[in-house]
Amino acid sequence: MTVVIDCVAIGDELMKEIVAETETLKAKGITPGIATLLAGDDFGARMYRGQVEKFCEEAGFNYINENPPADVSEEEVVEIVKRLNADKAVSGILPLRPFPEHISDSAVINTIDVNKDIDCFHPFNMGKLALGEPTFPPATPSAVVEILDRYAREYEKMDPKDFYEGAEIVVVGHSNIVGKPVAFLMLNRNATTSVCHVFTSMKGNLEKHTKGADILIVAAGKADLIGPDQVKEGAIVVDVGINRVKVLDEKGEPVLNEKGKPKTKTVGDVSFDAVKDMTKAITPVPGGVGSVTNRMLMKNALRACKMQHGVE
Ligand code: NAD
Repeated sequence: MTVVIDCVAIGDELMKEIVAETETLKAKGITPGIATLLAGDDFGARMYRGQVEKFCEEAGFNYINENPPADVSEEEVVEIVKRLNADKAVSGILPLRPFPEHISDSAVINTIDVNKDIDCFHPFNMGKLALGEPTFPPATPSAVVEILDRYAREYEKMDPKDFYEGAEIVVVGHSNIVGKPVAFLMLNRNATTSVCHVFTSMKGNLEKHTKGADILIVAAGKADLIGPDQVKEGAIVVDVGINRVKVLDEKGEPVLNEKGKPKTKTVGDVSFDAVKDMTKAITPVPGGVGSVTNRMLMKNALRACKMQHGVE
């Protein structure tokens, strides 16, 4: 029987832990806080900002919203980051990308205090991650680990340490925010880790790798990239992808909404219905990795807050 991993329940459990820890800190007169920095009004970034604000409210964190207009200068953005670095109410800083074209990512990210870099953007923290000593493992990759750790304990009755050691893990996607850091986290746990990407597919080699995976982690942003031909019978599949696609009827025609526009839905990178029954366990989309990601960010903010206040 396939286990469809209940990531929403994992997210809820984590939130309870975060709320409890926040209350303990508040009893000591310490309140954790997250500042988001969004230059301009990119739609996706605004959505993400709204989620962070909501979760901060739920957990009892301070929330600071820095949202200069899109024509803000790079110098002004760097000044905002410096101000947030010095602000004691801010435990963690989250820059929301994309920045407007005239602002370089590295100018902003390299200014963030490494002790407030809660999504591991700064090269110093990425270096520590690669060395196996992460202070703030980035949110999405650590959500993948959290989900697999809990699956290992609950369903395989295994210590996660033994679960990863020597496991054949294939990561699809090699971005700096998901694919590469998730591969580092798996390597750090002594898994045999392979990374595939768009050029693997272009050479026609994707299936050769993914078919060998005990654990397949997919983060490509391509709906239906992974179907039954790409998955080993009995594999564990973690689908990180988030894609908006048109809803089609049985003839393959778009279904229209009441305004006459094509209806859309959210799917992952894995053809869930076609793949599910051949897997040992799988995460769904929606209700998958994304339900845990924000919680991992908040856990990093708690860690940052405790470090900054010398609390264990
Ligand atoms: P990205 O565009 O930066 O990177 C995509 C990666 O996929 C690249 O390494 C690329 O080489 C690879 N890729 C693209 N097409 C491919 C193909 N045909 N075959 C093999 N590899 C291919 O994207 P990202 O920021 O890493 O995000 C990846 C996906 O994860 C997106 O759908 C994004 O929305 C989603 N995401 C989800 C969460 C979450 O919390 N669930 C968080 C962040 C990102």
